[in-house]
Amino acid sequence: MSHKAAVLTALDTPLEIHEIEVESPRANEVKIRMGASGVCHSDVSMQNGTLMGAAPIVLGHEGAGVIEEVGEGVTNLKPGDHVVVSWVPQCGECFFCLRGQGELCKAADPALASGGLLDSTTRFTWKDGQPLFQMAASGTFSEYSIIPATGAVKIPDDLDMKVAALIGCGVLTGVGAALNTANIAKGDTVAVIGCGGVGLNVIQGARIAGAENIIAIDMNETKLQMAKEFGATATVNASQTNPVSQVMSMTEERGADVAFEVIGLGATIDQTIQMTRRGGQAILVGVPSMDVMVTVPAFLGLVLQEKTIKGCWYGSSNVQKDVPKLVDLYKKGELKLDELISREISLDQVNEAFDAMKTGEVARSVIVY
Ligand SMILES: [Zn+2]
Ligand SMILES: [Zn+2]
Repeated sequence: MSHKAAVLTALDTPLEIHEIEVESPRANEVKIRMGASGVCHSDVSMQNGTLMGAAPIVLGHEGAGVIEEVGEGVTNLKPGDHVVVSWVPQCGECFFCLRGQGELCKAADPALASGGLLDSTTRFTWKDGQPLFQMAASGTFSEYSIIPATGAVKIPDDLDMKVAALIGCGVLTGVGAALNTANIAKGDTVAVIGCGGVGLNVIQGARIAGAENIIAIDMNETKLQMAKEFGATATVNASQTNPVSQVMSMTEERGADVAFEVIGLGATIDQTIQMTRRGGQAILVGVPSMDVMVTVPAFLGLVLQEKTIKGCWYGSSNVQKDVPKLVDLYKKGELKLDELISREISLDQVNEAFDAMKTGEVARSVIVY
């Protein structure tokens, strides 16, 4: 049975809509009828080669849908269940999963490295049976997808698919960076560089964690205005002023207790570390290209200042525990999710969403199937 999907056929080319074949799920896999998929900056990074990947590939990794079919051995999910797609399938049994660091699960490595599922093979084919890769063990720019059962997290049936999709990447990553990766104390001053889809979630995560001052930094005034709606108490337009000296002057020349980098550029990573106070934490959330290095003077920058520089992958999230927690926060009105959606589009409009993201126009475009 063929279904529509958006395929990246070669680096730096627009996605093409094609009819593709989707297999039945194998053991410990599920087939999902996609309900919605967010368009995330990492999709653009795959398109332009910042993130290494194979082509041809079905992009998209921020999705939610309904289980259509389950493979042999799947006991915790059944057809009809609504699920969020986790792009790090978390096995629950490896060294990392058992220590509550499911985001680092070893089982997911072959999938992320190969463009296939956990056994490194793919369930999508096109053009007379040629394999099509699946981004991040998912491939949510497709009407149907097969993913590992450990990558499907059950959600309530009444949760809007658009909102659920966003939880799968941007919200888990951003809110998780604030609630899981960082150690924010009540009353802290937090700085966030980069106020796109993930950055806005870092900001609302910092608000939920009890930060008193949240300084949002971006070069785009529209994004800074949105940052205020998500909890920023002050904004700095980095196109007009030096964000490091601004943060210093806002904190009695001390620096932020916790500073987050949510872009993935060497220059903004440097600024993030510089604006972190002695004894504070610099959290690196943005995905840099492979050649970006972090250079810090070992004595003056680290030893003497007791700064912590910490990487953040997938918001340090244990998805089976954190997705229900985020749904709960949303239902209580503490987490803004509807407000993250700037446009609803069809799969055919996916390239327009990429263009909008490149020009910094929107928080999130969401494909509705
Ligand atoms: Zn993403
Ligand atoms: Zn694991």
